[in-house]
Amino acid sequence: MSSVGKTPSMLRIGHGYDIHRTVPGRPLVLGGVRFDCDFGLDGHSDADCLTHAICDALLGAAGLPDIGHFFPNTDPAWKNADSQLLLRQVVGELKKRGFATVNLDATLVAERPKIAPQLAAMKAALASATGLPMGAVGLKATTNEGCDDIGRGLAIAAHAVALIQSS
Ligand code: MG
Repeated sequence: MSSVGKTPSMLRIGHGYDIHRTVPGRPLVLGGVRFDCDFGLDGHSDADCLTHAICDALLGAAGLPDIGHFFPNTDPAWKNADSQLLLRQVVGELKKRGFATVNLDATLVAERPKIAPQLAAMKAALASATGLPMGAVGLKATTNEGCDDIGRGLAIAAHAVALIQSS
């Protein structure tokens, strides 16, 4: 029960998933951080699959269409776009509808490069883009243990969940 005279916040959860193929000749950007790497990810924007998964988790929590609806890959405006800007816009779309983000949690699945040394920088970038404190951004990285295309280094994927509340 809420305290007298106070309407309880409405909590909503959302899930996001994204995967992009690895390709030579593109910068690798994950969670808004550029990695020193001999390959990048294929895609219309900067192909930051982690940030895209977080965008979709937030949009899903709000009952909104996915990232492709807001930033179609047929629109030249998003060619090589910085996905941190897309994330900022997603947070703005939620705000317009009266939602604030409570916390995020995400898992990056990549065989290489080593993600751990950049985890803190990625968390800081994601916290900045969403306006959350660092402690409200969960981020882990794992390999796919050599299994499937991700395990062979042909793609990098990310899973994310987001909790939002009516503000
Ligand atoms: Mg994507």
